[in-house]
Formats: sequence, structure tokens, C-alpha cells
Amino acid sequence: MTALRVRALAITVLLAVLSVPLPAGAEEQFKDSELRVAKALEAIRGDPLALYAFLKRMPKGADLHNHLDGAVYAETFIRVGGEDGLCIDTVAKSFTKSQPIRSGAEPEPVCEEGDVKAADVAKTQKLYDQLVDSFSMRGFVPSEGESRHDHFFETFAKFGGTDPRHTGEFLDEVSARAAAQNEQYLELMETPTWNRLNTITKDLAWREDLTAALTARRLAERSDAEG
Ligand SMILES: [Zn+2]
Repeated sequence: MTALRVRALAITVLLAVLSVPLPAGAEEQFKDSELRVAKALEAIRGDPLALYAFLKRMPKGADLHNHLDGAVYAETFIRVGGEDGLCIDTVAKSFTKSQPIRSGAEPEPVCEEGDVKAADVAKTQKLYDQLVDSFSMRGFVPSEGESRHDHFFETFAKFGGTDPRHTGEFLDEVSARAAAQNEQYLELMETPTWNRLNTITKDLAWREDLTAALTARRLAERSDAEG
């Protein structure tokens, strides 16, 4: 995050400098470096590895409207799912909640029959690979039954359910990656109250008079809390 912020500041300073009229000869110099970059790109166009290194270093500008949950890698979700004691539905290839952890000398999550502990997934390469594919767009080939759009949006329900305490880690992962690939500005989106909002709106019927409905709801909640 700090590296990114320092870079963002450097760019701001650079832009301020650039807005000053260029001294004589500087414009030629800019054209020269532009030409050199274009030549360098041409020279490696056929070499995928060199091209990857070149494009990774290239300044990326701004990454806007980046949903934090959608930018975290599948491998991270699998790891934190294990830390949170979640289980895996091996058919749906998604997280499921474990049963309440039984007290004992070594309290362990208890999974439904046929499910696997998320903490154990790394022991089975095949299931681990299938889960990464299920949580991401990796290797996805659209078919008549499932479009790219469907697969992408279904991933959110599959990797959902990890503890909100991981948000800081997620922020670190995504911003560090953005800095490493030379993004100057990252605008992340996160709705901390999403699950709560979802629960409320699910059983709140549509009313023309929304204010009255919300007031009634608030009063009911208050009397619940007091009762
Ligand atoms: Zn969005």
C-alpha cells in the first residue's frame, strides 16, 4: 500500500512537472523515448516470456471499480477457508459451513457426510485444482450450459463465507500485486455490510412508501433489541 501511495505521489509530481511548458529540445527527447519503447516492443513481439516481462513493467495507469472480493486469488480463499474451519462440497466445488465446532481436547470443524475440510484440500492435488478452477476463470471454456458471464458471477457464491477478519489480508494481497505490476492508482470497492443488507432486503417486500416501511422495520428491530 505504501509503495503504491509513494508511486501515486510520484506520478502527481510528474504530472505537475509535465504541465509546465517543455524546454526547447525536450519534446524531441520524448519522441525519441517513445520510438525506443515502440522498437523494443516490436523486437520481442514473438517472444511470449519477454513480452510478459515487458508488459508487467509497463505503467498501467488507474484500475477503477475493482471489487476486492473479485480480485483476491482462489488459492488465498482456499487457504483462509481452511483457517476458518470451512468445508468443501466436492460436487458443487464450493465452500460449505462446518457444523458447530465440538468442544474437546482438539476442537475440529465437523463436515457433512461426503464433504471435505477446506484445511485438507491442499493434500489432494486434483480437488485443489478443481476448486481453483471453480473459484476463478482459470481454464474456463464456455459451453451451452454455462456462459463466461454465468461462471464468473457464480464464483462469488462458491468462495463466499470466509470470516470478515481477512479483509486486511485481502487488501494487502491485492494492493501489493497492483504495485508489483506497476499500477499507479487502484480504486477498490468493498461493501462491509453486504450480507446484512442482503438479509434485510430479502424479506422486505416492495412498498411504494419506502420511508414508512423502513421506519416500521427500525421500530420492530428496536423493540426486539430492548425485549
Ligand atoms: Zn461493480
